[in-house]
Amino acid sequence: MAEVKYVFVTGGVTSSLGKGIISSSLAKLLQARGYSVTIQKIDPYINVDPGTLNPYEHGECYVTIDGAETDLDLGHYERFLNIPTSQANNITTGRIYKTVIEKERRGDYLGKTVQVIPHITDEIKRSIKDVGSKEKHDIVITEIGGTVGDIESLPYIEAVRQIRWELGIKNCIVIHLTLVPYLKASGEHKTKPTQHSVKNLLEAGIQPDILVLRAELELSQDIKEKVALFCNVEKEAVVQSADVSTIYEVPVKMLEEKLDETVLKKLQLSTKNYPHLKKWRDFLTKLKNPKKTVTIGLVGKYVELPDAYKSISESFIHAGAVNECKVNLELIHSEEVKEENASLLLEHLDGILVAPGFGSRGIEGKILAIRYARENNVPYLGICLGMQCAVIEFARNVLNFRGADSTEINTETAYPVIDLMEEQKSVVNKGGTMRLGSYDCKVHENSRVCDAYKKSDISERHRHRYEFNNKYLDDYVKSGMIPTGINPDANLIEIMEIPDHRWFVGVQFHPEYSSTVVNPHPLFIDFVKACCK
Ligand code: GLN
Repeated sequence: MAEVKYVFVTGGVTSSLGKGIISSSLAKLLQARGYSVTIQKIDPYINVDPGTLNPYEHGECYVTIDGAETDLDLGHYERFLNIPTSQANNITTGRIYKTVIEKERRGDYLGKTVQVIPHITDEIKRSIKDVGSKEKHDIVITEIGGTVGDIESLPYIEAVRQIRWELGIKNCIVIHLTLVPYLKASGEHKTKPTQHSVKNLLEAGIQPDILVLRAELELSQDIKEKVALFCNVEKEAVVQSADVSTIYEVPVKMLEEKLDETVLKKLQLSTKNYPHLKKWRDFLTKLKNPKKTVTIGLVGKYVELPDAYKSISESFIHAGAVNECKVNLELIHSEEVKEENASLLLEHLDGILVAPGFGSRGIEGKILAIRYARENNVPYLGICLGMQCAVIEFARNVLNFRGADSTEINTETAYPVIDLMEEQKSVVNKGGTMRLGSYDCKVHENSRVCDAYKKSDISERHRHRYEFNNKYLDDYVKSGMIPTGINPDANLIEIMEIPDHRWFVGVQFHPEYSSTVVNPHPLFIDFVKACCK
């Protein structure tokens, strides 16, 4: 069997240059050429996973099919490549140290002093190589989070240096992403920050093979040549990546810049199959030429940081393109929705989505927004907490259960319509202990959701501790809120619908995690369609 080839993507100058999008775009091009590719993200923080991080700190926590709570970049990888990722695709410093310390306690290093080099770096190398060999990929792209020169990424850079030395340059290359700022005052692009960040890498023993220069505007050939000369990189290996209107344009731009071809040549792999990207380009054409516009309100409490809802906003981009419709996603702060201003804030919307979330902050605003959607026949999609809030709203305003609530918000409520799952009651640790990952769901054949999915056996990803309290099911059914999706093994209610409403669906799972460019999610497609009417 051919050896697995490794591509490392590092970043210099600043964070947020879009390493995840460049990695995803390169992977897309290689995949379109017929290679089996996966992408892995390394996060240099000490949390074992981002599940315990506030979305304000780190954006959305993305959940894989196997139930790993991971970095939001894995969402981009899946959306671009249309193949699932798993726990192995996200390494954190916390996870590496945890494994090494467990091994030390077990006695695996008996007699030895356990050190960053070689024990931590060996564990990093093992985790990197594991993805390629276990899943049998031709190419593994590993994105190193943070910026070169950061104290916390040093062991990773050292691991890359070692892998490169062990496998040779034809099996392992480094792409370094930097920023080339434009100085208005002098009217010039400046290459010095790039030169300095390459020096940082050189100090760590790594000569980058390819440079991707991020810039606001297009770069001149002179600038590229200057960077090539001073950074000791071939001219063809200096690639520009200027800002574009949508991240989905980046694979096409990288193809124009021949990034994939340069990578393949360096890895001594065939460049025979040209990636035409037919489906991808069709998607882009639809995305850029919408025939109509709808405005959908996303009611949530983390709206100050749009990255907190990354997968939801991307799902709307995919579903919008299918419907040839531009979705204007208006982020509405749930704490700002009050009894007296609800209609003013919501009346111009074509649809309302209440977002996932935890804790009591902003809950009442979410419930008010749902009441508005239900009473005014505005299409509504509730995701996870958004479904739970719809259940609470219905209890309070239709069933007249005064003070009905989720026990997450009020443990003393007389009507705990949403309650802690049985298996959660004994859980004390917070990290990785929710109901996580994919679970099967049986969909009611005669339902809106079944029309959308066009099938009745589905499987969707979860991330929650609370559930619908089946004790109240009859009350709901009698009054017109119907369970249309049930987990066959545990009898948990996964979907609630109001059939008499134009489009009112609450789902306990997260459809947004599985929407991709090639496979937009049916629920989002159907919801946007309903909003267009
Ligand atoms: N906080 C709720 C629960 O744990 C909802 C979680 C979510 O929206 N992801 O059940």
